[in-house]
Amino acid sequence: MSALICEVVYRGIFQKNLASRITRGIVLSARKAGRWGIAFGRYGDSPQRNGIPAKDFAIVADTKEELEQNMARYEPKHVDVTICVDDTLSKGVESWAWYGLQPINKLTVPNGTLLMTSLQSPESLLKDIHKKDAPYKLSLIRAKASFAGLWVYREDHTEVRILGALAKIAPDFLTLDAVSQAIKESEWGSDLKVASAKKAYERIETREIKMTEGNGEIPFSFEMPKWWEMREGVTIPAIPVGKPKEAGKGYVPERNPYFKKYTTRTMRPVIDFDTCVKCNLCWISCPDSVFDVMPDGTFDAAMEACCGCGVCEAVCPVEHCVTMVNEQAFDDNASQWEMWRKDKAAYKTWLGTKIADKKTTVRSHGFRFRGQYDQELKAELDSGGVEITAGIPGENAAHKTV
Ligand code: SF4
Ligand code: SF4
Repeated sequence: MSALICEVVYRGIFQKNLASRITRGIVLSARKAGRWGIAFGRYGDSPQRNGIPAKDFAIVADTKEELEQNMARYEPKHVDVTICVDDTLSKGVESWAWYGLQPINKLTVPNGTLLMTSLQSPESLLKDIHKKDAPYKLSLIRAKASFAGLWVYREDHTEVRILGALAKIAPDFLTLDAVSQAIKESEWGSDLKVASAKKAYERIETREIKMTEGNGEIPFSFEMPKWWEMREGVTIPAIPVGKPKEAGKGYVPERNPYFKKYTTRTMRPVIDFDTCVKCNLCWISCPDSVFDVMPDGTFDAAMEACCGCGVCEAVCPVEHCVTMVNEQAFDDNASQWEMWRKDKAAYKTWLGTKIADKKTTVRSHGFRFRGQYDQELKAELDSGGVEITAGIPGENAAHKTV
């Protein structure tokens, strides 16, 4: 008797549909392979917030009895496969329900697999993925992060590619035949999707990761209050008034010292302090009170608090003064303003390299306007993409009535 436990780590709302399709596909494939399966989400991740890391789980077992032993729970303590559908999550997971930062490979068992969609090399990803006290495998499917939303699914085949890769990773539980049958027979099935799953099965890249490899940073954590330290009744203190930045000038607002929010981010703002006209708009509009008012009247985004929503870029009236850049282009949460103050010429060069690289600035950080998904689909078709005519949710009505 044995079981396969998988987690899917995804961006809340934007990838909710994707994650549930993957876990559902695992269960359907398990049935086709003559096994039993169950899929469930982490209770504490609901309601979800945009971009906040969240988790779904799928468990496959040889027998019903074994499945019952592994039935739904808050969060399994160990998983055989961690599936991560956005490579910026390699920096760690601070979910709505989690307190502190959880490395992406934290639950992966020794010699288990971390399966990611990414265009980066393993070496580049390992700059962010935390070291683990046991060896494991890093498997890559070459793909950009797939973002859509709560009610739409981006038909880029990510879900079936993950299923095809899983058949390679765990052939004792999910055969390629079983995965193909499940894709074909599910309401989103199509021959094209079966072909994508098979390609992923053939093309998945896997590398053994040693205990010595990875990011050596100690993940952010804090002590939870003990029950005897809690006050009687429920009182929510108001946010204290902030403090001046330095020498009585500037202003640093008070922020939540526990929930940092930066793992929510897929992109971060990069600011050109030389062109800033000190209009205050970013400071007023930022939903998370991220901006410190600096002694010279410009605004510095405190990177531990920034959730990467892009509002500051949208409201800034000066062209290229605030530019959202892929989170993967950064190694720390250091102050941009301090870098600028120290060496303005060096900062200008740094800024140029960050915002000039189209690979880092074209990434989507969610949908900003109605119709963006339609525009993106059209752009993909215009650049040689293939239209999917079957298997789109809601449109495959004939199959739904079966
Ligand atoms: S992206 Fe800009 S507006 Fe959004 S949280 Fe970060 S600093 Fe604030
Ligand atoms: S919105 Fe732009 S110009 Fe206005 S203060 Fe912020 S960074 Fe400066």
